[in-house]
Amino acid sequence: MVKEYLTRIEKNKGLNAFLEVFEEEALERASVIDKKIQAGDAGKLAGIVIGLKDNLCYKDHEINCSSKILEGFISLYSATAVERLLEQDAIIIGRLNCDEFAMGSTNENSAYGNVLHPMDNTKVPGGSSGGAAVAVKAEMCTAALGTDTGGSVRQPASLCGIIGFKPTYGRISRYGLIAYASSFDQIGVMSNSVDLVAQILEVISGSDEYDSTCSSKPVDDYANNLELAGKLKIAYFTDCIDHPSLDKEIKSLTEELIASLKKEGHTVEPVSFPYVDFMVPAYYVLTNAEASSNLARYDGVKFGYRNDDAEDLESTYKKTRSEGFGTEVKRRIMLGTFVLSAGYYDAYYAKAQKVRRIITDKTKEILDQYEFIITPTSPTTAFGIGEKTENPISMYLSDIFTVHGNLTGLPVVSLPLWNHSSDGLPIGLQVLGNKFSESRVLAFSEYLLQRKN
Ligand code: GLN
Repeated sequence: MVKEYLTRIEKNKGLNAFLEVFEEEALERASVIDKKIQAGDAGKLAGIVIGLKDNLCYKDHEINCSSKILEGFISLYSATAVERLLEQDAIIIGRLNCDEFAMGSTNENSAYGNVLHPMDNTKVPGGSSGGAAVAVKAEMCTAALGTDTGGSVRQPASLCGIIGFKPTYGRISRYGLIAYASSFDQIGVMSNSVDLVAQILEVISGSDEYDSTCSSKPVDDYANNLELAGKLKIAYFTDCIDHPSLDKEIKSLTEELIASLKKEGHTVEPVSFPYVDFMVPAYYVLTNAEASSNLARYDGVKFGYRNDDAEDLESTYKKTRSEGFGTEVKRRIMLGTFVLSAGYYDAYYAKAQKVRRIITDKTKEILDQYEFIITPTSPTTAFGIGEKTENPISMYLSDIFTVHGNLTGLPVVSLPLWNHSSDGLPIGLQVLGNKFSESRVLAFSEYLLQRKN
């Protein structure tokens, strides 16, 4: 299997999904695991070949978050999630391209070149886990770990036509996930089958002494609970379905799905959620604020790149950060610093915190009455390379439906329900559930994907 994947990686080099391939190491590990399988003592994930988004630490391997500022930096330890994959005999095949520090929706913000959509090379694959989505879609690995701060697992999954699952905030340890916005960041799983997502999730979830925000709630047996019995109560937001940014075809396909779920006897009802237009602004104020703090550590002293001509501490900071960070990362550090500054803190940061609280409370009220909320994952299918790079606001607005899951910390998945729109590109449906209802969200996902066939 590893050989087969390596051949496909070589064949698809032009897509630029991988930053590095651990060729020899993966083959060596494969032969060790083959022996374990023969001896009958292999781990739960033996035979699963996984790619890692390049913001997840893997001991003794380079990690640079697709940024020049971390070029050549070698991880001193593995992320807890990675450690747990290895314990269960998964094979890590390489590092995957992404937007710099996971900031972006198209993978065009990588210092190592953008990633191409595997079905149409003129389109973006989505982001920030674009390399991960493409590697899974083009079968260059069995599954990938991405990270999702505002949709980075689900949106590229939707644009490329695979499954992208972001669990509840705190379900998976963030230890070894290089921070973008710590109160939003969560590791997610990308693959082609719900069963595999369930198996991987089960292995990497659970308490961790190295992350105090990680929940100690016991992990369910996700993979053995994928059957769904009885009728469901599902809500959808009229404010999403009628949103002017939503593509007409995606709207009508979602409406058809709602009608057919009703025909099957499920309760599917419209709910008003007049906060949709406040989600992207609140998300960007808060995540930029957190990013400006998290990224202060890249100062040319402790990690990675340092400008050689700097003469003193201040010029070291200035030159290193000016040269090491890309445009989008700099924009966010400046915006974040601004919204946290003395004169503007209340007007922006504190206000956005209040908006986050209202959105979380209102969502909870809805989920007290309905088990799931469904929305399209993305307002459009994959768009053209360069189409939104000149206008950051239009780029940010493409996250309109995905940021909800991170503002609230709820488990949420994107499912490849429609393989071909009229432009030949995939369309995803998003399913959001209650806190720690991973098991139910997965079971509903399986139901939705099976009934389609
Ligand atoms: N597109 C969003 C952003 O640029 C989401 C990124 C993410 O989830 N890492 O912030």
